[in-house]
Amino acid sequence: MHSFEFGINKTLYILKALADNYIYVLTNKESAIVIDPGETSVVFSLLKEKNLQLKAIFLTHFHEDHIAGAKDLKEKTGCKVFAADDKRIKIADSYISNEKEFTVEGLTFVPLQTPGHTKEHLVFFEKEHKLLFSGDLLFSLGCGRLFEGTPQQMYTSLAKLNILPEDTKVFPGHEYTLQNARFAKSIESSEKIDAKIDQVEKNLSKNGIAIPSTLKEERMLNPFLRVDDPSFKARVGKNISAIEAFAKLRSLKDQF
Ligand SMILES: [Zn+2]
Repeated sequence: MHSFEFGINKTLYILKALADNYIYVLTNKESAIVIDPGETSVVFSLLKEKNLQLKAIFLTHFHEDHIAGAKDLKEKTGCKVFAADDKRIKIADSYISNEKEFTVEGLTFVPLQTPGHTKEHLVFFEKEHKLLFSGDLLFSLGCGRLFEGTPQQMYTSLAKLNILPEDTKVFPGHEYTLQNARFAKSIESSEKIDAKIDQVEKNLSKNGIAIPSTLKEERMLNPFLRVDDPSFKARVGKNISAIEAFAKLRSLKDQF
């Protein structure tokens, strides 16, 4: 288990779950918010060990590896479940279908509607401390697969992150950093990506995790955020639009 102090009496716990999922627990040392609980045991252990009252669960999208633990957690704690507006998420108390900020346990979140990976998908941006819980939209150096959306939708969803400050910390739904970094290098090799690969390998062998990154770093190294840059786009194809370059990158990554 990894933890990260993000304010006075505020801790973010990063729990590894299933094969490569992350579950995030935000707490003020008394109450807790859980994001994308793909399983329950690691969450229950933490709540018990730290004596935390679970107040809310946030769900970015309907995939089982992000929501499977929500039912049990809700039944045992009576917490409220806030979810993407997808009726396949049966456990939700509140479906979020706008981008209005809301406050839970003293933390204010902006939900962004970011379809592409799935038809309905949310990311949660915690405003005051600039923490982005990016689900399966944005990974460290990569992005989610297009299961239900179009390249245009995913491109537009990723572009929504442009409104967020560069020192925003990115907490994705999965640990895919190393594979993503290798893919990025296959498109454009540079000293920066080599340095990143070294750092990721060290972090993974020492701590088992290679997150968070920052939006500044993502804008510099993540190929899926670079398709608007003409010289980068030219590496993907001649005389193509940014969206075509995005689509091509996505299919190259699917086969990588
Ligand atoms: Zn997913």
